[in-house]
Amino acid sequence: MQYNRLGRSGLKVSELSLGSWVTFGTQVDAGLAAESMAVAFEAGVNFFDNAEAYAGGESEKIMGEAFRRLEWDRESFIVSSKFFWGIKPGVNNKNTLNRKYLISAVDASLDRFGLDYLDLIFCHRADPETPIEETVFTMHEIVASHKALYWGTSEWSADEIRAAYEIAERHHLHKPVMEQPQYNMFWRDKVENEYKRLYEDYGLGLTVWSPLASGLLSGKYVDGIPDGSRASLPGYEWLRASLTDPEKNKKVKELQKVAESLDASLSQLAIAWCTKNPNVSTVITGASSSLQVVENMKAADVATRLDSAHMEQIDQILSS
Ligand code: NDP
Repeated sequence: MQYNRLGRSGLKVSELSLGSWVTFGTQVDAGLAAESMAVAFEAGVNFFDNAEAYAGGESEKIMGEAFRRLEWDRESFIVSSKFFWGIKPGVNNKNTLNRKYLISAVDASLDRFGLDYLDLIFCHRADPETPIEETVFTMHEIVASHKALYWGTSEWSADEIRAAYEIAERHHLHKPVMEQPQYNMFWRDKVENEYKRLYEDYGLGLTVWSPLASGLLSGKYVDGIPDGSRASLPGYEWLRASLTDPEKNKKVKELQKVAESLDASLSQLAIAWCTKNPNVSTVITGASSSLQVVENMKAADVATRLDSAHMEQIDQILSS
């Protein structure tokens, strides 16, 4: 496992990490979570991603319980949460990045985890109704109070990130260090085009999500929706059209051949491909079982065999 600096910060994150969206609280209880996290940790993963909104707060409780069961030194792992959607009713509790919400949301998250501090906190989406200045000052204060160590954004536009950075710079505040965008073979624009200047100008780090496009890039949807898969879960019907898209699944079949030539599974190839982008600090993987974690962690090894000829072949398939 390789360790990369999180953008221009001094923090080193493993090139592969493990997140809990959909899985923890829905498919995975605390015992299975601890099992998956242990497999990832043994493979070298040091970053575990979470969010307030995942399973309405249950995901943070489950991960907190798993940390206690695993008895790891707090210094040995990095854990995140994200804030925006809120899990309590009320006009100042939902869809906001205002000061009132953020301050109490971080405290509530720490309570659910049973931790004294979070390593990374993200503004889970941009909030057009709160001045960016109010959010930047609040995130700075949370970091200054040591309830979190670094802050960043998720799915913000390049302009919004630039505005946040400039406000922090002007007022000598803790700056946003990282962004968390979607990035995979089928979803490249933000990372490869929109954010291009931010890497050099601000040293923006990326913790990218959905390397398998929710499982599409494992190849499991080429013949329809398998039982027990994400697309079969109640509440995730909105993913079905994209996961069973015939054009995409045609490309998936072609990509399978590249994976075979590397003696890798398609999931391993798709995850390894994300690590090849030098602006990606860590690729957050997801897994509904520890067996998937075992398979996916081998992507770090596959990445070492993935050369420019394979990358070109992949680009040709994707653009055909
Ligand atoms: P992926 O795109 O990698 O999808 C993971 C899912 O694919 C698994 O839960 C599993 O679903 C299936 N899968 C994984 N490995 C395999 C395998 N080897 N073989 C077959 N199927 C496999 O990642 P996620 O969409 O889960 O995102 C990863 C993390 O990113 C999240 O946990 C979260 O932490 C973060 N995230 C952040 C977002 C943000 O807005 N900031 C948004 C979304 C995610 P199944 O077995 O059920 O089919």
